[in-house]
Amino acid sequence: MRNMLLVIALWVMKILSGRCLKIMVMLLVTTASGNVFAKNKVTGMRVGVVQIEERAGFRLVVETQSPLKASLLLLQSPYRLVIDMPETIWAVDKLPRRGQLLVKPGTAYRFGTPRPNVGRLVLELEKPAAPERAFSLPPSDGGNRFVIDLLDRGKTAFLVAAAALAKNPKKDFGAQMPSGALARNADQVHVAKPLSMPLPKSKPSYLLVVPASSKSVPIKRPTSEKRKQKWVVFIDAGHGGKDPGAIGKAGTHEKIITLAAAQELARQLKATNKIIPILARNDDRYLRLRQRINLARQSQADLFISLHADSAHSSMAHGISVFTLSETASDKEAALLARKENDADLIGGPDLAAEDPDAAGALLRMFQRESMNQSARFAAAILKQIRGLPGGDKRGHRFAGFAVLKAPDMPSVLVEMGFLSNLKDEANLKSKSYRQDLSRRLTKAIVSYLNEYGPKI
Ligand SMILES: [Zn+2]
Repeated sequence: MRNMLLVIALWVMKILSGRCLKIMVMLLVTTASGNVFAKNKVTGMRVGVVQIEERAGFRLVVETQSPLKASLLLLQSPYRLVIDMPETIWAVDKLPRRGQLLVKPGTAYRFGTPRPNVGRLVLELEKPAAPERAFSLPPSDGGNRFVIDLLDRGKTAFLVAAAALAKNPKKDFGAQMPSGALARNADQVHVAKPLSMPLPKSKPSYLLVVPASSKSVPIKRPTSEKRKQKWVVFIDAGHGGKDPGAIGKAGTHEKIITLAAAQELARQLKATNKIIPILARNDDRYLRLRQRINLARQSQADLFISLHADSAHSSMAHGISVFTLSETASDKEAALLARKENDADLIGGPDLAAEDPDAAGALLRMFQRESMNQSARFAAAILKQIRGLPGGDKRGHRFAGFAVLKAPDMPSVLVEMGFLSNLKDEANLKSKSYRQDLSRRLTKAIVSYLNEYGPKI
């Protein structure tokens, strides 16, 4: 049958010329290979350990004939990473279609072709590990490589990542090149090195997997891991140490007010019995904005709340403002305030560890956007509760480029609790009972937000 087609095609080709001829040849080639649309082949897959911020991350490398197109999805119960590779077929005949993964938190893998010419790989994970980065590397030893690194940053980070990926189902991560520090650090990018269990290159389909038993894939459940019973809320008392923050009409230092408010909020959150509060600082010390974010990420917080007290030229300005992160500010005053708050970092001298925001990579930017969406919901929950306070909801939800709100994996808000440049506000913020009232409302907002959107506890 195929020979006959070939004869007919050759005959047709004789009477055609130019572009038509080219199309005919292409058609013939693809028909002969049996895959009209598939342009790419997966030739090998490897998993291994990669160091991410001094922790062990999980690295997957997919080797393909041509540059890969890949979209990502995260699912729960059990935690899964799904990679869809359009226009790709499997050429890993020696690799079982399902099996165990030997590198944690991976437990099992399976791959197949859910739709014609779409290759799908599913990795099962015993922890909520989300992609940190995904990028392609140019061919080496004949193959193209698509690299994806996963790290467990807790349930909320996983949920943010899952929501972001679900909103961008067509985003092609195969087109991403390694960015920023990763691109500069050749050791990290070199795929052969970080793999904990390298296997011979001549047998790429044999790599790093244990064939499943003939019956079913045994999937290990995280039995030893204690289920998280409480939410973690990170409370960031603004300023501190050599940075006093704003100074009030009556001489009050912002750093004193923010610490007192943070400690009261922590006390009330703890009393709910559902929340573990973590303070950025519990004394008068200077912390960089980046350090505050890192501390929150290390504690795998479910929420980040930064407490401040503003000052303005006009002593008339008063009331509470709730801010979330945005590239463009909601108003001039918000932009100015963000700049002023970000200047807290200048007091500590140049920050050599600061990341170049352009180097963040497509995944991180996507998670950041989703985290900003969720932060807006958290801000709305706060505004609802502070309505009853003097000037409580007058200023509303506003946004600007606050550096301290840039954690990509947790909803983050900054509350300007009042104006120290206003005598009434300053007196309120100095009063213990006022701070107790404010904390009671913030606690209510935090619990209601977490009940609705947080991970189940
Ligand atoms: Zn401040």
